[in-house]
Amino acid sequence: MTDTLHTPGIHHVTAIASDPSENHAFYTETLGLRLVKRSVNQDDVGVYHLFYADDAGTPGTSMTFFPYTDARSGRVGTGQATTVSFVIPDDAVDYWVDRLESRAIGTNRFERFGDEVIAFEDPDGLPLELVARADAPAGEPPAGPVPEERAIRGFFAVELALVDPDPTVRLLEAMGYEATEDDESAGRRRFESTGDRGFVVDVVTDPSTPQGSPGAGTVHHVAYRVTDDEQAAWRELLREHGLRPSEVIDRKWFRSVYVRTHGGVLFEFATKEPGYDVDEPRDSLGERLVLPEWSENRREEIEDGLPPLSLTATE
Ligand code: ZN
Repeated sequence: MTDTLHTPGIHHVTAIASDPSENHAFYTETLGLRLVKRSVNQDDVGVYHLFYADDAGTPGTSMTFFPYTDARSGRVGTGQATTVSFVIPDDAVDYWVDRLESRAIGTNRFERFGDEVIAFEDPDGLPLELVARADAPAGEPPAGPVPEERAIRGFFAVELALVDPDPTVRLLEAMGYEATEDDESAGRRRFESTGDRGFVVDVVTDPSTPQGSPGAGTVHHVAYRVTDDEQAAWRELLREHGLRPSEVIDRKWFRSVYVRTHGGVLFEFATKEPGYDVDEPRDSLGERLVLPEWSENRREEIEDGLPPLSLTATE
């Protein structure tokens, strides 16, 4: 049963930020993503949960944040998903280098496994990349400051920094990933699944990488796309790998199983359904604060407890 399971790729990636307004300005104005959901951390309603994605909130395009205004900076390192990569059209590299440099964001441009890559950091120091690919899916780019033909088309990859990669590699292979590339000198192995976006996981084992510690500028978890009828089988597969998956948790826009993997990285298996437009129309996604039903009767108190969040463009 479990040997037929496979995920096409990333559903969303969630990271920790500090200032919510700065986070919003960077992901919407600089990177041109759309705020598709403004909610609160369901486990800590004094903290926002902000979701940025393509125009439709398509699974495989959404980068989400818990911005803790008083967060200490984390350290990017082993036991974490370290770098998050987005895919751009292959003729958009010059555009993006100019765009980032014109905003005083330092970039590093190089080639990896035949793809042009632009590496940079978000305001909290989270390592990001734009990877230029001829197979970037057309998708539904947001109407925003970035021209449609240059826009980010969703995720390309996540990088996992692991001290002892073997158990995680076995898990990735059971999830449907196949080894495709290997750069031994960099300690980097590439695994690919079958989706049109977010289908790459790079496993990096580099003795010079420090141990990661959580905080602003680090990834909290990586979620993979699954279907509802597979959740029980995913839980079984995770147990077969010696892991302890959570129950299926209803996150309103998707249903999820969470598991801490052998190397320390938190994985989530999130359904494509029902999606971000289940509780607000697609045209006005992200415009109002959406709360879990169980906390609606505390809306006023929750709104008062949230930090200031400026949604006004500064350009
Ligand atoms: Zn998640």
